[in-house]
Amino acid sequence: MRLRDFVKKAVRFLNMAQVEHRKVFLILLFGPVASCAVPFVHLVCYAGILDGMLTGRLEYAVRQLLWMLGLTFVCGLTTKGCWHALEVVSESCRDTVWQRTADKAFRMEYEEYEKKETLDKIRRVRQSHRADVRRHFYQIYYLIEMGLYTLTALVFLILLFASMDYENRNFFTSWQGIPFLLAVSLLMLIAGNRVGAKAGKLRTAFMEKAEGAEALRVYYTGFAHALESAMDIRIFHMQDLLWKKCTDTGKIEDELWKDGKKIGVLQGIFQLISGIGTLCAYVLIVGKAWYGVISVGDVLLYIGAINTFFSSLSNCMYAWNSLSGSLDYVLTFDDFIGSGYMNYDGTLPIEKRDDGEYELEFEHVSFSYPDTDQEVLHDISLKLHVGEKLALVGRNGAGKTTLIKLLCRLYEPTKGRILLNGVDISLYDYGEYTSIFSVVFQDFGLLAFSVRDNVAAGEDGEERRIWEALEKVELAERIRRLPEGLDSRLFHENGDGVSLSGGEAQKLAIARALYKNAPFVILDEPASALDPLAEAQVYENFDRLVNGKTAVYISHRMSSCQFCDRILVLDQGRIAQQGSHEELMARDGIYARLYQAQARHYGF
Ligand code: ADP
Repeated sequence: MRLRDFVKKAVRFLNMAQVEHRKVFLILLFGPVASCAVPFVHLVCYAGILDGMLTGRLEYAVRQLLWMLGLTFVCGLTTKGCWHALEVVSESCRDTVWQRTADKAFRMEYEEYEKKETLDKIRRVRQSHRADVRRHFYQIYYLIEMGLYTLTALVFLILLFASMDYENRNFFTSWQGIPFLLAVSLLMLIAGNRVGAKAGKLRTAFMEKAEGAEALRVYYTGFAHALESAMDIRIFHMQDLLWKKCTDTGKIEDELWKDGKKIGVLQGIFQLISGIGTLCAYVLIVGKAWYGVISVGDVLLYIGAINTFFSSLSNCMYAWNSLSGSLDYVLTFDDFIGSGYMNYDGTLPIEKRDDGEYELEFEHVSFSYPDTDQEVLHDISLKLHVGEKLALVGRNGAGKTTLIKLLCRLYEPTKGRILLNGVDISLYDYGEYTSIFSVVFQDFGLLAFSVRDNVAAGEDGEERRIWEALEKVELAERIRRLPEGLDSRLFHENGDGVSLSGGEAQKLAIARALYKNAPFVILDEPASALDPLAEAQVYENFDRLVNGKTAVYISHRMSSCQFCDRILVLDQGRIAQQGSHEELMARDGIYARLYQAQARHYGF
């Protein structure tokens, strides 16, 4: 990677981590400067002390010693301070990137969110070593530090050689040492960079593989604290299976070892090149000392400077190659965070109507899920009349939930249109459009927050309305009995919380839908976890529950839909039948057949 591109990417990375720029730049400047000053202070002062002692100038030697101690203290303090500040800044930046990625994930369009590559990206931010923002901060710091070491050591060496009083007797006593040293360094830089780039590429591929193994391990070990699977693991004796799967990831590690060896060999070659460079420089110094061009104190100075120069040059190249591979990767998160939230570009506001006069219509709608070529809905045309209670019934996989997802604009139809009051829903502002729906999904999710936050789905919940919603679903009594009432927290994820039964959780999800008070209420199998009494109450009080709004009720239980104005039977993604319960029973169709089959088992 070219230097300009590299700097651009590094700055973009620092911007992405959203830090207070001045602070991080100051840390990245002062820390490495102070750290690289120490060995040179030592070199100069040691040489001074030695020369002072050898020539009997004791006072000069003591002064050099005091300088050395004072400067070492100041530099050490600055380096430690900057390093500590970098730890704090990088930790907080990692949190910022996590938070921004999570925020992006919450807000982005569902269809995009659900894609495998999006979910992979989100997972990687938390799990992948390569995506770890902290590591990049340390590496940038290290690169600057090593770069400064290399530069200062080079300048130092040139100054030392240049200040020589050369007699042109032979190579060792002439000025030719300087170009020789520069040529050796240049050769080392070129060769080292080639080897380093190759090792960098291998390392990137290595990390990609390691990431897969890591994801598997995180998945398996995640079961250790997943309360929802704890019972199944015990009853079905899945411990051995999990142990085997968990240790199987070791096989991937064997493969990784092989790659690791290749990287090791390349790094060995890299060190060898660096060693040859150092050896050439030593030969030069020893030759100069042999011919009496430099003193004993100077030999120490040269050897120290040359060691610093070659080791920091090789460290610098290592950090460069390693960062070149991973900066691009980590910046994909910047692209992710910075990309638009929605492909939907509709801007029309939704007309606010107190009378709830909203009419929805499907016009020849067909749909296939992204990245699949199987149509799950075929040519659906249907109108939802104002105030109507529509039941959607059909066997598992008939397409009921998919139809609801399209209605709520979680996906776009592949063919056809959906209209709200005669206007294509894609023209409406997405946020406004979704505000007209209250949905209880079959696999609804509650959060490990307070009951209040769960029902009101926000911070400014109206207490009176929250209780009203809880009363309607007959959950108010249970919540009142909790020591902290509405402020009781659910689940145990973040410490102590209330454990709700499946039915209670479903009631709470219905209460949340009622609280939203949207003109359309959609309930997807809302009674699946309720006991027969609570289920019967839902049917009997349905009108009161939905308060005269337009409602869609999904069930695979035919008997539970009789209270609806219209029943729509879906079969393999098509509308097979529609009408009232009596009309459908009078016809010899799929509805009557399914109804009778279920009647035999449920005895209604
Ligand atoms: P129902 O609610 O009637 O049980 P769904 O609408 O959930 O049926 O599913 C209809 C079909 O769509 C099923 O065959 C199901 O496997 C498929 N399906 C559901 N969700 C997805 C998805 N996210 N990606 C791909 N196929 C899906």
